[in-house]
Amino acid sequence: MSSQRIYNFNAGPAALPLPVLEEIQESFLNFRKSGMSIIEVSHRSKWFDDVINDAVDRTKRLLGLDERYHVLFLQGGASLQFAMIPMNFLATGRTADYVDTGTWSTKAIKEAGIQKKEIAVVASSKDRDFCYIPEDIKFNPGASYVHITSNNTIKGTQWQSFPDTGGVPLVADMSSDFMSRPLDVEKFGLIYAGAQKNIGPAGVCMVIIRDDMIKLIGDGLPSMLDYNTFVNKNSMYNTPPCFGVYTIDLVLKWLEEDMGGLSGMESFNVKKAAILYSFIEGSDFYRATADEGSRSLMNVTFRLPSEDLEAAFVAKAIENGMGGLKGHRSVGGCRASIYNPATIEGVEALVAFMKEFEAKNG
Ligand SMILES: *Cc1c(COP(=O)(O)O)cnc(C)c1O
Repeated sequence: MSSQRIYNFNAGPAALPLPVLEEIQESFLNFRKSGMSIIEVSHRSKWFDDVINDAVDRTKRLLGLDERYHVLFLQGGASLQFAMIPMNFLATGRTADYVDTGTWSTKAIKEAGIQKKEIAVVASSKDRDFCYIPEDIKFNPGASYVHITSNNTIKGTQWQSFPDTGGVPLVADMSSDFMSRPLDVEKFGLIYAGAQKNIGPAGVCMVIIRDDMIKLIGDGLPSMLDYNTFVNKNSMYNTPPCFGVYTIDLVLKWLEEDMGGLSGMESFNVKKAAILYSFIEGSDFYRATADEGSRSLMNVTFRLPSEDLEAAFVAKAIENGMGGLKGHRSVGGCRASIYNPATIEGVEALVAFMKEFEAKNG
């Protein structure tokens, strides 16, 4: 099976670790001697309880979360979080700061605006088409939170270190770099991540929320849009996205047992990205789109000398067993998404292909 698989550089849904896919396949028809598949067992059963609790415990261990943090599995994607965050934390009289680093941040800002919440966009990199992460930002000390997008999937930028907000909790969209590096979690009041980029399949969004944020939640919210509902019921107020939670649990097990946790994962990710960026830097044919100090370890965005060459590059790559290299339709160009599961072998194959393409077309 694995021999027919391509090198998958999709931005999301994206590649998952092969051992995880193999374990799913192996246990699919008869999950842990239940005589049923994991997608057939009750979410109120011991089998599923063990899965969700294991996923929570692994998340807590990997990120070093203490008892103030709650790990949730929600539906509605990261996009629903754009709406739930201001809905829950910005009761009348409260304000929040937002940093605009491109498409997804912009959407988060839009959802707060639709609800007529008081927010301030305290920094933006729009002036240069979002090719960098803003620095020296002045935050409002009275804000309830500061919203950032830790990795900008489309623009290819990533916060290399997190800003000093003067004690205001960070609320971070980590959809495309969640569990890719160790974190100083103390800075974060809430972290959310659509699973389909870096830790699982589509259909589940992980949320980590701290007690002080829960205290801010106002009254009168519909149950399904209130974080309390999920905190109080271990994410099982209604039927959770069972298959997604199960896959995430296997990915977290892989992170802990095979990759050496988040510091091991980070060194591996740094190594992979360096191979690609250093090749691009050394070439006059390819050009990285993000500023040097802001480049993402996850989504490597680059241009070729013309759009025709870019289209030929993407098509030729597919013929060579490399998929997903087309940039997002809103920005064009090319993008190699090299999330946690991407291998050194895959990145080296890509660089070899890029060299060959340049030799023929440069
Ligand atoms: C993909 C992505 C989203 C949107 O996620 P959905 O789960 O499709 O709603 C939000 N933020 C970032 C950073 C993303 O990469």
